[in-house]
Amino acid sequence: MTERPRPSSIAGGCLCGAIRFTIRFPNDSDWPPKGNGICQCTMCRKHSGSLLPQNISFPVANLTPNISSLPTYKTYASTPTTSRGFCSTCGSPLTFNDDKDRDLIEINIGAFDEEVLIGEKVEEEAWEDGYGRHVPRKGGWGYELGLPKYHIFAENEVQGVTDGFGGDKWLTDREGGQSFKGKASEMKRMSEAARVISGGRTEGESTV
Ligand SMILES: [Zn+2]
Ligand SMILES: [Zn+2]
Repeated sequence: MTERPRPSSIAGGCLCGAIRFTIRFPNDSDWPPKGNGICQCTMCRKHSGSLLPQNISFPVANLTPNISSLPTYKTYASTPTTSRGFCSTCGSPLTFNDDKDRDLIEINIGAFDEEVLIGEKVEEEAWEDGYGRHVPRKGGWGYELGLPKYHIFAENEVQGVTDGFGGDKWLTDREGGQSFKGKASEMKRMSEAARVISGGRTEGESTV
């Protein structure tokens, strides 16, 4: 797909609608967003209820309104330095926040509106056949927003289910070692360069 001009803004919110927000894309903002990753860590899975949680990070300054000011927005401190935001009425998981990057907010991609992700329904062009009713869509930014730029906690890949992605992966987080491509379960132990660190796990060290 060819790259298209950025949208001026995109909207999202929780399932019940009590929390609504807009992300603006000023001319100097990333498009498509670079801070876009799939994290297969257990905390992200538990919070999102998904095997493949995906978040996009945006400057807090481009988010309106201030989501923390909305009455049903609550946060849960999942570690001493990170928290996860959700709607206390409908339970929708919405954000990830890291104290060391207070200028950024990560938004769970599924929180963006249907029109943002797959476009508006074009009812006039709908047709029906044995498969059911087909309603074409117009617009939508799901391709640009949805293509992940990185994959973290690949050590938790479910073989044959969540390990089929291309792109740069990290076994844990991006500070935790070198990136790789392919399936975590097919990585080979790096012989002499490997150092047993604990419980038989090995940590790769570059030999160059
Ligand atoms: Zn809600
Ligand atoms: Zn995670």
